[in-house]
Amino acid sequence: MRKPKVVVLGAGYGGIMTTIHLQKQLGVNEAEITLINKNDYHYETTWLHEVSAGTLHHDRARVSVTDLINKNKVTFMKNTVTDINIEQKKVILKNNQEVEYDYLVIALGYESETFGIKGLKEHAFSISNINTARQIREHLDYTFATYNNLEEKPEGMMTIIVGGAGFTGIEFVAEIANRVPKLCKEFDIPRDTVRIICVEAAPTALPGFDPQLIEYAVTQLERKGVEFKIGTMIKECTPEGIIVSKDDQTEEIKSKTVVWAAGVRGSHIIEKTGIENNRCRVKVGPDLRAPGAEGVFIVGDCSLVINDETDKPYPPTAQVAMQQGPVAAKNITTLIKGGTDLQTFKPDLKGTVCSLGHDDAIGVVFGRKLFGTSASAMKKVVDNRALFLEGGPGLLLKKGKFNFF
Ligand code: FAD
Ligand code: NAD
Repeated sequence: MRKPKVVVLGAGYGGIMTTIHLQKQLGVNEAEITLINKNDYHYETTWLHEVSAGTLHHDRARVSVTDLINKNKVTFMKNTVTDINIEQKKVILKNNQEVEYDYLVIALGYESETFGIKGLKEHAFSISNINTARQIREHLDYTFATYNNLEEKPEGMMTIIVGGAGFTGIEFVAEIANRVPKLCKEFDIPRDTVRIICVEAAPTALPGFDPQLIEYAVTQLERKGVEFKIGTMIKECTPEGIIVSKDDQTEEIKSKTVVWAAGVRGSHIIEKTGIENNRCRVKVGPDLRAPGAEGVFIVGDCSLVINDETDKPYPPTAQVAMQQGPVAAKNITTLIKGGTDLQTFKPDLKGTVCSLGHDDAIGVVFGRKLFGTSASAMKKVVDNRALFLEGGPGLLLKKGKFNFF
């Protein structure tokens, strides 16, 4: 008898959790499971701000996909998905290879959202994956190493701009604030030569978060030399820097290092499928199935789940992606085994912790506010828990963060 083909796209949080649960629930005679990912490694997206700033080596933040899956049950293909044919139930890969599916899980994650702002794609960096993170770190190191070799220093050469003071922008700027004094020492550059500027369009950093914790974060970062430009919108990025606008006044800030961390959208592959979407995120059904696409489930940042209590979408987070994986796997297993009673996805959110460097953080966990070392320890617990869920005690011991205080 032909075995049903289950194909998972993406080995990030959502894809890995789906695959791990599928391989536990389905025997080799019950289904053919295939996992397709661009790289042969899984990376901890939630650690990319550290990799980008150079405060954590990229090898600490990644692990071989085949170390996480059962190779006897799952076929791993290192390849890039270029399209999905929903009618014909086929995935198209970079080398034009086609992979048929009966059940498909799309877990292709996020891409940087530039909102059509001129010059951002060409001149700004983004914290999107291991490659872009390494590029930012290398650019920073090169800029510092070059500075004292130049007779004429270009204006803004030592100005680092972070676009957006959402969670990504704040976590990244905090790592930068910790790394810059070390880079200055290493390359004999006075600290006051370097400016670190964080530009946020909203009237506050971390819009929507607890005001007391925001104040704590901003004060801590300002103490380390971060300049905040709040209520200021980035309008354009050029090879020389950025153009911002505040209260109808525009200003140019010269910089050779602009890191855009001001928003995300789902993978562009979603748009190609023709499935109804909003910025490449698909409003999935309660069982995580995509509307109008037979056999297709979507998890992680490509999915959009509405919070019934607020009537607003849940923000795209690793926390949600990791909880969706097991539900998608359970529902596919049920369908393969002939069942119809599918599980409803309901996020069980424990809270949010935003790191402010390796030794400081803010957060609200189980309704309790945390800041300083207790929040920082909690952030490491959260990071370690993800490793444990993905790869058990082995991965935790190999890659875990144990420097709690
Ligand atoms: P990802 O984990 O991004 O994985 C997508 C995978 O798909 C990747 O392996 C990628 O290589 C692969 N892929 C992409 N395109 C293709 C293609 N065409 N073909 C083949 N493979 C492809 N959330 C939290 O809950 N807590 C946090 O503390 C937190 N911190 C964050 C810090 C930073 C710096 C950033 C950027 C985000 C953070 N988030 C956090 C958000 C969180 O990382 C995302 O919501 C989460 O990664 C989404 O999981 P995912 O499985 O959808 O995608
Ligand atoms: P975001 O959308 O949450 O924040 C982007 C910020 O950029 C917003 O504050 C927005 O006002 C600002 N912005 C947008 N356009 C701008 C412009 N033109 N000029 C200046 N500022 C502008 O995006 P993010 O921070 O990348 O986060 C993406 C997702 O990842 C969110 O769901 C977030 O919760 C999650 N995340 C979570 C954590 C954590 O839990 N520790 C860390 C990072 C990211």
